Amino acid sequence: MIWLDFSMFLVLFGLFFYVLASSTVTVLHRIYLFLHTVFMIWTLFQFVSQTTTETHFKLFYLSVSYTALSLLGIGWFVFIVFLTGQSYVIRKSRLFILALPALISVAAVIVNPNGMFLQINTELTPLKQLQHGPLYWIMVVQLVLYMVVSFIIMFYKLRVEKAERQRTQIKTAFNGMFVLVLFAIGDLVLNIFIIERFNRYIPLISVGMAFAAVYLVHAIRRNKVLDIIQTVQRDVMNTMSMGIIVLDENDTIIEVNKVIKPIFRLRIGDKFNPALLGSQFKGEASKELKAFMEAQRTRPLERHEFEIAIQHDKYRHVIVQSSPILNNKKTPVGRVLTFQDVTELRLLVEETNNQNEMLQDRNRDLLIMQDELFQANKKLEHMAITDGLTGCFNRRYLLYQLEQEIVTNIRYGIPFSIFLFDLDHFKSINDKHGHLVGDEVLCSTVDAVRGALRFTDILARYGGEEFTVYLPHTNREQADQIAEKLMESVEQNRVNTGIGEQPISVTVSMGVISIEHFEPSDLADPKAFLRELLAQADAALYEAKYSGRNRIVKRKLA
Ligand code: GH3
Ligand code: MG
Ligand code: MG
Repeated sequence: MIWLDFSMFLVLFGLFFYVLASSTVTVLHRIYLFLHTVFMIWTLFQFVSQTTTETHFKLFYLSVSYTALSLLGIGWFVFIVFLTGQSYVIRKSRLFILALPALISVAAVIVNPNGMFLQINTELTPLKQLQHGPLYWIMVVQLVLYMVVSFIIMFYKLRVEKAERQRTQIKTAFNGMFVLVLFAIGDLVLNIFIIERFNRYIPLISVGMAFAAVYLVHAIRRNKVLDIIQTVQRDVMNTMSMGIIVLDENDTIIEVNKVIKPIFRLRIGDKFNPALLGSQFKGEASKELKAFMEAQRTRPLERHEFEIAIQHDKYRHVIVQSSPILNNKKTPVGRVLTFQDVTELRLLVEETNNQNEMLQDRNRDLLIMQDELFQANKKLEHMAITDGLTGCFNRRYLLYQLEQEIVTNIRYGIPFSIFLFDLDHFKSINDKHGHLVGDEVLCSTVDAVRGALRFTDILARYGGEEFTVYLPHTNREQADQIAEKLMESVEQNRVNTGIGEQPISVTVSMGVISIEHFEPSDLADPKAFLRELLAQADAALYEAKYSGRNRIVKRKLA
């Protein structure tokens, strides 16, 4: 049944490693725990081996503890390699070769051919019963080898390393290892070479292991190597959508988050090589990256940013930012590189720009159309209020305008005048020269009339060859003067009808009314008042015709 117990122990032991491997602790943490486990197994089975006098069991327990001890060297070596940021040394292909001495040693312990590793001679005194064969010394040699290489690596690193954090870590490991080796040598001397002198077994290695472990755990805690915050920070980093690379002051990669891993083949502990990174970009991007790196080198305290297009599974726009990590004294102790994929954003901006351009085009077309419409409307408006032949206002416009103005004039007592004139014997011009010449005479007469009027006077064709003039702010006296001027201007006007033809001249008969005083009752019905005014003007015109034409008949209303 003892084997069932042991199998269960192995299951639990395996689970322990599985949980360790799958949880988010640092690689260093895991390697240290491996070493720690080696320590535990060694001490546990050294103890257990002393609880029995049964040779077989004793031998088995000792084998387990020596198996663990065989792995101590390679464990420590890997620990130091990772600690000094040289994890690239341990490739999967190399790991087997590097671990070969340890594995041979493990095999030697387990197989123990003919007791060449260890045998128990019960015929001797208890302290001399344990007999180490040549394979035992092979194990010791491989342990010494790993330790020596580890020491060399540490010595070398301590000489070249300038980063304080790294130095502290290496020194910690160095001290731990030194304590352990010291105790191991003591153990070897005491328990193998001069055991008779003390006449008892003293487990110095176990004490050394415990010392080393206590020292390392204390140092690890003090230097916050396994800080829970760091673990959480890594979780946060890994859930972020942007790629993050953290470098120390020597450009060694300390951390790389999950986003980065499929894009750049980078490993923690490697030296960050911008050239290698650049080779993953094409043409311009590679050059830009170099300039970016140069800027970082020359101005390390500033934040740098550049945007590149990279061809990873598909075309991607990436913003790369580099920010210094500053310590309390504001000196840079490392850098954080972030890679943010802005492809979607760029596409969106591009699309928005395209749409904007289209909208602008459409807007331009609309503005042109609007202008054309405005011009057409203006033309229509003009056409609606003017007379097509003579170009002066039409009757509709005049009446509308008068209706508005009269109300204001009456309310504020502003004097105004109205002319109504008709061309004399125009029918005969038509008859004699034809309608076209008649039209020409009409237009020419209108031009002559315009010359006699002021800018504010409104000249309108009332119908046929009959015209009206509305003269705002004009009393009788002023109206008389303008009427005289108008008559004169028409009389002097000559219309050429063709070469060799006598120029035509016409006269007009005109009714003039001036309104200077108003009755408040006029306001009651302005339209009726206007009708009355026009009727009066018409009557005056009739009178002018009747009394011989080419004359003015004035009427003063009220
Ligand atoms: P009176 O001095 O009494 O006004 O004589 P009149 O010949 O001018 O007589 P009346 O006013 O009755 O005649 C108007 C004529 O004007 C009739 C019509 O043929 C002519 N007429 C009206 N409108 C136009 C026009 O737009 N063009 C031309 N050529 N003739 C027109
Ligand atoms: Mg006439
Ligand atoms: Mg007429």
